Amino acid sequence: MTDTAVVSPAPLTLLGTGAMGTALARVWLAAGHEVTVWNRTAARTEPLAAEGATVAASAADAVAANRLVIVCLLDDASVGDALGGAELAGRDLVNLTTGTPAEGRARAAWAEERGARFLDAGIMAVPPMIGAPDSGGYVFYSGSPGLFEEHRDTLGVPAGTRFVGADPGFAALHDVALLSAMSGMFAGITHAFALIRPEDIAPKDFAPLLADWLTAMAPAVHQSADQLQSGDYTRGVVSNLAMQVAGNATLLRTAEEQRVSPELLTPYMRLMERWLALGHGEEDGTGTVELLDVRGR
Ligand code: NDP
Repeated sequence: MTDTAVVSPAPLTLLGTGAMGTALARVWLAAGHEVTVWNRTAARTEPLAAEGATVAASAADAVAANRLVIVCLLDDASVGDALGGAELAGRDLVNLTTGTPAEGRARAAWAEERGARFLDAGIMAVPPMIGAPDSGGYVFYSGSPGLFEEHRDTLGVPAGTRFVGADPGFAALHDVALLSAMSGMFAGITHAFALIRPEDIAPKDFAPLLADWLTAMAPAVHQSADQLQSGDYTRGVVSNLAMQVAGNATLLRTAEEQRVSPELLTPYMRLMERWLALGHGEEDGTGTVELLDVRGR
């Protein structure tokens, strides 16, 4: 006898076998978990049934099958639709459906009223990154710390886990903050390709330069964080705002010369100009967060 307990993989229920739900279920099945699935369109569960999943006839039946219930549906409204008739008392509900922080908090209160523990989540991965530990994909979780601790091994099977607090809105907030930053990055990438497009420059030659530059600039987030936490926007300034705003004119003239619309650039430039006009020329751009804050306005 050894004192090493062999823990068998926990059974779980998964509601929603769309692209993401199917990828998740496959990995749990492959890891030996008993998985009960339900999907509004039953045909979409067939590939998983062939791989060993049990298909429930209704969402309520699927919820009744296991204590751990994972939901991966289109949006928050579909979560309400799917779980409307289910008995949630005593269940551990993990919502992998993308939503807003307010939706996460409201869904947590809703689940608690029904006697369930609740975790909200934000998936920082696309389906091919699920079950691929080296892909860098992971999932933010927030809400019940007890639920997270109890099920963290199971939750960690398809992708890495990052618990970001007991506030059930925090997973969505972290998720959407990262996606919002990505949106700005893609705006810049789109503008850069538009600039070179009329010329005899191969996008494939340009792409590595662009990727390396963005990678070199990314650590600037730590400088911003240091300024925000210290409350001193002049700390460690390398390129001050006065210089940056002057440089923006070159960016805009180049766009004009290349016959490229500046519409992806100008919103942030206008913000920088406003902050400069308020006397912040010796800072860099971090202080513009204050102009975005519309609380109390
Ligand atoms: P899909 O469009 O492939 O699947 C959507 C799922 O939601 C299907 O199971 C669909 O059922 C179900 N659904 C939609 N409306 C309802 C409803 N009213 N009642 C019950 N079920 C409903 O989306 P994904 O699987 O890709 O995405 C699922 C979640 O994962 C989303 O919140 C998405 O934001 C998130 N996510 C997805 C990523 C991706 O790259 N795919 C990346 C990160 C997060 P039916 O089959 O019947 O239509």
